[in-house]
Amino acid sequence: MSEISGIKRKRTEEGLRNAYNYSRSLLEASLDPLITISTDGKITDVNKATELATGIPRARLIGSNFPDYFTDPQKANDGYQRVFEAGFVRDYLLTIRHVAGSETDVLYNATVYRNDKGQIEGVFAAARDVTELKAAERRSNFTNALLKLFAQKTSLKEYLDSVLQVIQDWTSCQALGIRVVDADQRIPYGSFRGFSPDFLALEDNLSLANDRCICLRAIARKFEAQDFSILTAGGSFRCDNGPAFVSGMSAEKQADYRGHCIKFGFTSLTVIPISYLDRILGAIHLADSREAFFKPATVEFLESISPLIGEALQRFHAEEELAKYRGRLEELVQKRTVELEAANMQLQREITERKIADENLRYTAAELARSNQDLEQFAYVASHDLQEPLRAVSGYIQLLQQRYIDKLDEKALRYIAGAVDGAARMQRLITDLLAFSRMGAHERIGGSADLSAALASAMENLKVSIQEAKAKITSDALPRLPVDSTQIEQLFQNLIGNAVKFRGKHAPEIHIGANHRPGEWIFSVRDNGIGISPQYAERIFMIFQRLHTRRKYPGTGIGLAICKRIVEHHGGKIWVTSSPEKGSIFYFTIPD
Ligand code: ADP
Repeated sequence: MSEISGIKRKRTEEGLRNAYNYSRSLLEASLDPLITISTDGKITDVNKATELATGIPRARLIGSNFPDYFTDPQKANDGYQRVFEAGFVRDYLLTIRHVAGSETDVLYNATVYRNDKGQIEGVFAAARDVTELKAAERRSNFTNALLKLFAQKTSLKEYLDSVLQVIQDWTSCQALGIRVVDADQRIPYGSFRGFSPDFLALEDNLSLANDRCICLRAIARKFEAQDFSILTAGGSFRCDNGPAFVSGMSAEKQADYRGHCIKFGFTSLTVIPISYLDRILGAIHLADSREAFFKPATVEFLESISPLIGEALQRFHAEEELAKYRGRLEELVQKRTVELEAANMQLQREITERKIADENLRYTAAELARSNQDLEQFAYVASHDLQEPLRAVSGYIQLLQQRYIDKLDEKALRYIAGAVDGAARMQRLITDLLAFSRMGAHERIGGSADLSAALASAMENLKVSIQEAKAKITSDALPRLPVDSTQIEQLFQNLIGNAVKFRGKHAPEIHIGANHRPGEWIFSVRDNGIGISPQYAERIFMIFQRLHTRRKYPGTGIGLAICKRIVEHHGGKIWVTSSPEKGSIFYFTIPD
């Protein structure tokens, strides 16, 4: 070897060393873990970032198996095998496990490298830390899953079960539950996973009012001094080592922790309150036997999504309330419907009864009208036809009186006088009966009449007896009304006639009164006569009913019956108030 060639070689070696150092420092400067792997899967080189990601020094990494440093060694093995087959992989997701337990999600990009002869010597792989990216993605998946559950119309139980599933998938903790505050201040688990029946027997029936434990204090937001060391900024409890935490305090303070979680082997514990608009509705309870299992970031994230669960709880509560009211409303409607149906049926029955009664009434009225008409006809015909023989009787008696007066003795003449008197009475009776039957109830009243004119006519007709009795008659102003003037004149005549006839020891004082009240006029004929015992107050309005002998007070007993007919014909009523010796007041009404 010449000197020149020796110098050349030296220079070349130096150049190579420089190039190596240069590229080496580039590799070491990279924040991404870089690694080379031999064809049999052994690590042949690593950079500083790989040492940091695994927590293992380079010397120990080189020569060890590549797949050993991942949470899923099989997947890591498959990955580098694929590089040999395809010549490269892009964005191949693996999770590097640090010796201390933490994990780093990475995306591998790898290619094979070859020697001068073109033979594959190994794989060069670069990992990009995507832990933050993955965490963000998982958080967003988690939130989306929760939102989806919220949107789905399920029962509270179904919702909480699904939420727990999502939380467990996310945290992969051993046991968890969601406590929901009920109306009695109890906090049973609305849903739970991984708690044993023995644990639940002790912990599922706690009351905010009576029990003392850290989960109750998280829900009620009332903390003890010793709680603050495990209290998060968001108001949750996060304890990495329960037994160590509790054993470090005095027995008196230990009483504030039920200690069941610890007894059942849970070392890591977390209680995250669930609230809605500042109202605490419950809590998420996470437990795991592994120490320091719940990372601050995990708890912080759960704190950030707990209002979503709170809102859902609130909605289920509201729906439950609404359903209760709806149920009550339906019950009321049902009850009212039944009542209404019963009332309807009753009404139907009443209508039917009423219809039958109406029918009967119509029938009776028709019958009555017919028999009334028959009676009127009969009374008219009878009284009319009776007049004929009566006239004959009186005629013959008069003949007897005139022609045989000197042939008859006194006794015979007395008999004849009796017969004349009887015939005269008969004549009066027939006249009255005729008048009664003429008060046809079927005639319609047309026009109107001045009642004071009717009263004046009646008094004119009674002029003689009024004068004889020295009767004093006064009257209120009388109205003009839709009445049959002849009938009203007859009415006044009968009432005033009676008032004069049935006078007492004093000269008659008679007053005709008139008062208007809603819908009708009420008239009165007041006298100071002999009066009537109240027991006869109704009987006197019936035909032929008299209270005295003919000799004492002449009359036929038809006058008041006629009055009653006239008043009723006008749609009114007639009655009397009286007592013996005190005079009488006859009232009658006439509708407007
Ligand atoms: P009459 O006057 O022909 O007897 P009414 O029908 O007019 O028949 O009267 C019936 C009975 O009522 C009379 O007989 C009388 O006993 C009683 N009466 C009627 N008006 C009066 C009156 N103003 N005072 C006392 N009694 C009366």
